[in-house]
Amino acid sequence: MDALKETKIHYAELSQTDFREQQLEDHHHCCLCGTELVLTHVTHFTHLEVTEEAHCPSCHVRNRKVQHRLQ
Ligand SMILES: [Zn+2]
Repeated sequence: MDALKETKIHYAELSQTDFREQQLEDHHHCCLCGTELVLTHVTHFTHLEVTEEAHCPSCHVRNRKVQHRLQ
């Protein structure tokens, strides 16, 4: 009976989670240590794209490298 009560409380907490805020938190912070990531954007006008890199200043690792196409 107590286990069932705890399960219902757990689901109620999950349904109130703001998933958008959680997504932004994951996007801007290191998945290894939680430090705020340093973002760099380099624009290549000849290739019509922007290269975005996310770097953790604490772990010294590159967490993300994404190419965005310019329109
Ligand atoms: Zn880190």
